Amino acid sequence: MSFQSLGLIEPIARAVAEQGYTTPTPIQQQAIPLVLAGHDLLAAAQTGTGKTAGFTLPLLQRLAGGEPARNARGKTIPRALILTPTRELAAQVHENLTAYGRHLQLHSMVMYGGVGMQPQINALARGIDIVVATPGRLLDHHAQGNIDLSAVRMLVLDEADRMLDMGFVHDMRRIVALLPRQRQNLLFSATFSEDIKRLAADFLVNPQQVSVARQNATADLVEQIVFPVDRDRKRDMLVHLIRERGWEQILVFTRTKHGANRLAEQLGKDGLTATGFHGNKTQSARLRALADFKAGRLQVLVATDIAARGIDIDQLPVVVNYELPNVPEDYVHRIGRTGRAGSTGQAVSLVCVDELGFLRDIEKLVRNPIAQQIIPGFEPDPNAKAQPIVMGRTVLHGGERRTATSGSSSRPRRPAGHAATRNDSRPAAPAANRAPFPLSAKPQGQRPSGRAKPTAKPATASGKASPLPPERRADAWQGTAWAELDLPPHLRNNPSRNGQRRSGGGQRGR
Ligand code: AMP
Repeated sequence: MSFQSLGLIEPIARAVAEQGYTTPTPIQQQAIPLVLAGHDLLAAAQTGTGKTAGFTLPLLQRLAGGEPARNARGKTIPRALILTPTRELAAQVHENLTAYGRHLQLHSMVMYGGVGMQPQINALARGIDIVVATPGRLLDHHAQGNIDLSAVRMLVLDEADRMLDMGFVHDMRRIVALLPRQRQNLLFSATFSEDIKRLAADFLVNPQQVSVARQNATADLVEQIVFPVDRDRKRDMLVHLIRERGWEQILVFTRTKHGANRLAEQLGKDGLTATGFHGNKTQSARLRALADFKAGRLQVLVATDIAARGIDIDQLPVVVNYELPNVPEDYVHRIGRTGRAGSTGQAVSLVCVDELGFLRDIEKLVRNPIAQQIIPGFEPDPNAKAQPIVMGRTVLHGGERRTATSGSSSRPRRPAGHAATRNDSRPAAPAANRAPFPLSAKPQGQRPSGRAKPTAKPATASGKASPLPPERRADAWQGTAWAELDLPPHLRNNPSRNGQRRSGGGQRGR
């Protein structure tokens, strides 16, 4: 199948060919004709599937087929708005838009925070057809009267799940309220949670649905492996792997900005070129790091989850989870940086005993156990005990829970990926048959019969879990005794929690 056979006009098909694309990816095959026909679209596609071209190509074509919109002073004002959760993704989408639209007479711009407003104001004043924006900066421009949104006829919400996760739901609603009612809406999301469906119900009109990967499935082309390791040997293991396997371009993930900086510094002392890549760096420092990394001048980019969104590097061979994310969806996004558009990649996770619960949550999400391999010389201590993970003011409990009476399944363990205040609504798997260092974190199945039902109230009126993991909620830590926060769960001795039922930390709504 060719791009032209999807109905794309010659200047766009030519630009695509100049990018070296010969065949449309599945999401492009499905989405392009529907968008060209003017439908609203709800698309489940994770990063790496070619989703950006899936919406930018038909968007360009629809705009190219119409007349520019002008304000009273004759200036061209935007007809299309693309919202993304992060600056990097906005920059990436805009880069693609520019490449695919190079033979068209359309003007686009990208606007995000962290850089001066004036160049963006100047660009708007020159006349713009398409704006790619992060929500906050767009609202800033609107509040200052810099942008006229009255002619927007196409709205794209890219990585909408991430926008919800990052708390942009109100900004999104405010922005949509500023747009004309008559418009075409496209919503792209890696996952189809209940909240995404609700958002779609509010924003989309009779949407066509397309889906290219099983929900929450990880890219098939990414080989995933877990290397069990003790927490204080991770750095040695990483250096060992980099040297032994001859990795030349590695994207490494940590949970925190501070952790990213520290690891990059330490890797520097180990003789590797490495830099941290996170939200505390200026936009220009981030762009420079990315350019150095792409050009091979920088071997290791140590990134946090949010900063890494939108990093698009062709044929990035290896992604390393130096620390597993406490939000399982982040794992899918992380490893989606490799194995992009047909090339293969490797996603390596260095997992210590503190993170076994996170691993279990991830395996449950991707619906597959992840292969494990012990690296000789780095065998983990079989008697190691999980310790809580401190992330700023939040204490996470990511370890597998083991009870005093090991092997008994009578007492539910705290669920994995557990913040200190997290509501216990999921029961734990039986502890029987678990290895001393139980890295074989099996996906959980049904609640074993005979187990008491958790008594925790549902997080929302509809009974569905809240979209924001409790540890990400602003109030997650409030109202909980510090003493309790600092105690690992197996040391908590609240009798009401020790029996057949657990009531959790109480409902801390949003
Ligand atoms: P995305 O999922 O939009 O982030 O795209 C992932 C990568 O696939 C980007 O590097 C694109 O340049 C590339 N890509 C998009 N469409 C195609 C295609 N039809 N053939 C080859 N590569 C593509």
